[in-house]
Amino acid sequence: MKPEIRLIDKTFSLYLAEDKIMARIAALAKELQQDYLGREVIFLSVLNGAFMFTSDLMKSLDMNLEISFIKLASYQGTKTSGVVRELIGLNKDIKDKHVIIVEDIVDTGTTVDKLMELMESHGAKSIEVCTLLFKESAFAGQKIPKYVGFEIPNKFVVGYGLDYDEAGRNIKELYQLKE
Ligand code: 5GP
Repeated sequence: MKPEIRLIDKTFSLYLAEDKIMARIAALAKELQQDYLGREVIFLSVLNGAFMFTSDLMKSLDMNLEISFIKLASYQGTKTSGVVRELIGLNKDIKDKHVIIVEDIVDTGTTVDKLMELMESHGAKSIEVCTLLFKESAFAGQKIPKYVGFEIPNKFVVGYGLDYDEAGRNIKELYQLKE
C-alpha cells in the first residue's frame, strides 16, 4: 500500500485503506440484509465506477437477490439543449421490485436523480441508493442516498473502481488528489 501514487500528470495521497473499505462494506451489507428481509430485491450497479464496490458488496450479502448493470450514456446533442443522457442495459424487469441503485460516488446528485426518474417510469416498487462515497457538501439533488459508506469532502478521489481519465480503477485503496 503506497502512501502516494502518480496517475498521468497528478499525484494522489492514500485516503482509505482496503481494510477500512471492507469493514464498512460488511456493515452496510448487514444493514441491507435487515432492511430487505423477505423482499424481492434487485441491485442495479451503475457502470463503470461501481464495479468493484458492487462485487465486494454482493459477496458480503447473505440474501436472495438479483443483480443488473446499467450505464448512463451522455453525448452532446445537435441542439443547443446540451448533454442528453439515456439509459443503456436495463434488461431486467424491475416492475414491482425493490430496487437498490449501487453507486461508487454521489457528488452533485444529478446522476441519481436521472436514474430515479427512469426507474420510476419502469414501475419499481421502491427505490433506494447505496453509495460507497457521498460528497455531501457538493450535493444538490432530490434523492438523498440512504446507504452511505463514507461521507467525504469535495475533493477528487481515485481507486477502487473510480478513475482519473480511465486510469486507477484497478487500485484496491482510495486515493485523494494532492493539492
Ligand atoms: P453526480 O454529480 O451526478 O452525483 O456524479 C457524477 C459522476 O461524477 C459520478 O458517478 C462519478 O463518475 C463522477 N465523480 C464525482 N466525483 C468524483 C471523484 O471524486 N472522483 C471520480 N473519479 N469521479 C467522480
